[in-house]
Amino acid sequence: MPKESRSDESPSSSLVPTYAARALEHEVPKFTLPEQSMLPATAYQIIHDELRLDGYSMLNLATFVTTWMDDEANKLMGTALDKNMVDRDEYPQTAQIEQRCIKMVAELWNAPDHENAVGTSTIGSSEACMLGGMGMKWRWKARREAAGKSTDKPNLIMGANVQVCWHKFCRYWEVEPREVTCEGDRYTLSPEEAVKLVDENTIGVVGIMGSTFDGRYEPIEELSQALDEHEKRTGIDVPIHVDGASGGFVAPFLQPEIKWDFRLPRVKSINASGHKYGLVYPGVGWVIFREPEDLPEELVFHVKYLGGDMLDLSINFSRPGNRIIGQYYNFLRLGKSGYRKVHEASRAVARSLSKRIGELPAFDLITDGSDIPVFCWKLDDEYAKTANFTLYDVAEKLRERGWLVPAYPMPRNRSDLVVQRVVVKEDFSLDMADNLFTDIKRVVDFYESHPEQGPTAENAGFHH
Ligand SMILES: *Cc1c(COP(=O)(O)O)cnc(C)c1O
Repeated sequence: MPKESRSDESPSSSLVPTYAARALEHEVPKFTLPEQSMLPATAYQIIHDELRLDGYSMLNLATFVTTWMDDEANKLMGTALDKNMVDRDEYPQTAQIEQRCIKMVAELWNAPDHENAVGTSTIGSSEACMLGGMGMKWRWKARREAAGKSTDKPNLIMGANVQVCWHKFCRYWEVEPREVTCEGDRYTLSPEEAVKLVDENTIGVVGIMGSTFDGRYEPIEELSQALDEHEKRTGIDVPIHVDGASGGFVAPFLQPEIKWDFRLPRVKSINASGHKYGLVYPGVGWVIFREPEDLPEELVFHVKYLGGDMLDLSINFSRPGNRIIGQYYNFLRLGKSGYRKVHEASRAVARSLSKRIGELPAFDLITDGSDIPVFCWKLDDEYAKTANFTLYDVAEKLRERGWLVPAYPMPRNRSDLVVQRVVVKEDFSLDMADNLFTDIKRVVDFYESHPEQGPTAENAGFHH
């Protein structure tokens, strides 16, 4: 078949039952738009085959993001692929559903008046954090201007373990980041150290419910108390934004007794990723403000909606509406008891697998998956002295079997410490955990029985 005849191919000109009608004999251009068209089935086959190289998302224990939803959710979201979330006047029912989700999330986080709560869905937590951060910056600016003081040098306090979106926030919105560094075995923010960094230019403190590095909750209530005491001494009132990207949809179900949310008056805004433990495929996050006055009017645009007015707070314009429908489906389908059961199951898997890993002489647990179902471990200090492998080697060897279990250094001041982490999600069963454990043990056995084999792998560039 001459090269050009692959284009515009008609089924009758080829042997139809053969693989993609024999249209795959030639390479498709990778960096230029093809001149000619091809049959849908051919394009489908080419791309479908290529995507197999991505591996199975179910074996991706690096990601916090949902890799499974049930059939009804898939069906519902499939029929709503055409809905643009921004067209609230055109898709008023989807807009209604978004508003209901906002109130439900506000209630889950104990907002004082959840039916009048303000907030928005976003494309993910990164956008939600930007909006929460902007809320802090604009409120601080208004307070400073009212007092006739300079607004030149805003700063934001956070742990060195923050997700990269907070570094982006600080750089994009010209806010000085003030980091509480790790110290010894503490890999999260310490309230005492955070308070030491406060001054009159502090727009707020970010507390994390579910640190990306080790899955631990930060002590938000103690942080709030430390800031109360600091305010009594100095008169400086510093708000808290809670980054609950993962824990915002875990703590209300698994640890309802922990006070981290709007029960603390100092918490003015909270974000979470619907696509993490909200159990929706990638493309949805939430940010909620404690009360309408906590959302600066300057950040709000107004859109037409069924002849009325609706608040529009976003950085992005067009985005998929079906993710919000997927979120609403989960809320109705699971309810509070369903979320609790799903997450209890994940936590049970995390605890059982972490226990077995921790019992191996090679490893020491840092966290066991009791906060969010995420845990990490390090090489045992004694064992490491004579070990002929690193955690990067373990990660690389596991990858040969399809498992993605990243190894990476802890944040600044403890970046000498390399850890390996597992994020347990709904689709990771006890049986799969057992398979993973067997493979981890096999890797250790391999190195122990090949003393001539030295460490080879290096940091493969894992990004938080
Ligand atoms: C994942 C994560 C983010 C970013 O969330 P996206 O939804 O991926 O944009 C921010 N903060 C924390 C703590 C996270 O775990």
